[in-house]
Amino acid sequence: MLKDKNAIVTGSTSGIGLGIARALARHGANIMLNGFGDLDDIERIRSETAEQYGVAVSHSGADMSKPAEIRELAEQTVAELGAVDILVNNAGIQHTALVEDFPTEKWDAILAINLSSNFHAIRAVMPGMKRRNWGRIVNIASAHGLVASATKAAYVTAKHGVVGLTKVVALETATTGITCNAICPGWVLTPLVQKQVDALAQRDRIPIEQAKERLLSEKQPSRAFVTPEQVAALTVFLCSEDAAQIRGAALSIDGGWVAQ
Ligand code: NAD
Repeated sequence: MLKDKNAIVTGSTSGIGLGIARALARHGANIMLNGFGDLDDIERIRSETAEQYGVAVSHSGADMSKPAEIRELAEQTVAELGAVDILVNNAGIQHTALVEDFPTEKWDAILAINLSSNFHAIRAVMPGMKRRNWGRIVNIASAHGLVASATKAAYVTAKHGVVGLTKVVALETATTGITCNAICPGWVLTPLVQKQVDALAQRDRIPIEQAKERLLSEKQPSRAFVTPEQVAALTVFLCSEDAAQIRGAALSIDGGWVAQ
């Protein structure tokens, strides 16, 4: 379905982004991986994905908090794969603290990586998408793009911003073959959430499994984690022709979190 399309997936060396990169590759897209981690591990992910699905896979270590490196990521993708047809803005970090205790450098980093990187990446790839009159932009927001939780000032602010940016870009491209949508996952058990599970287990002196259940029962009515594969399947659908008239949407995949 996505044969000969080229996709950037930011933050795809782990968690949801890795699941999305693999799913796009399975559907035939060439992939520019991005993110941090052990270089041998990243090379293994790169070569296994390329061999398994018979597509071209590159990696860029561009730091999504740095606009110049985001521009270089787009340029490297054009140089190595040929174009950017699909952009998945997924890189993200988390920090929790009461607003009066929130470290200002954490606020700046979360706003830069979780929100501003989406703007810089979209800005860099948009001229090429407009020239080809085809593009798919999928921003991985969060249930926290739609509702709030205490101790997450920067994250909730950034993710609400992503939903707003998604709508603007969708309106600016409404008469073109380019679509822009956001996906709003609930809890997905990735390293980002495992840290919050571990912190809860430590704080309440309970076993890890009980901490997972407590985390889910606070927010997610299904009491089950969303999987990276489920978020990836929705991303692949948004990249299909069947999804051509889904524009500016913020699609929940959250076990009922925001229905409450
Ligand atoms: P993760 O920690 O498993 O993966 C984050 C990825 O981003 C990694 O590849 C990491 O190397 C990369 N990254 C971090 N900082 C970066 C930077 N400055 N530059 C480039 N890459 C960077 O996290 P995840 O849970 O898979 O989260 C992925 C996205 O999904 C994030 O935007 C997150 O906010 C969102 N999300 C996650 C959940 C969840 O429950 N896990 C729920 C809703 C939304």
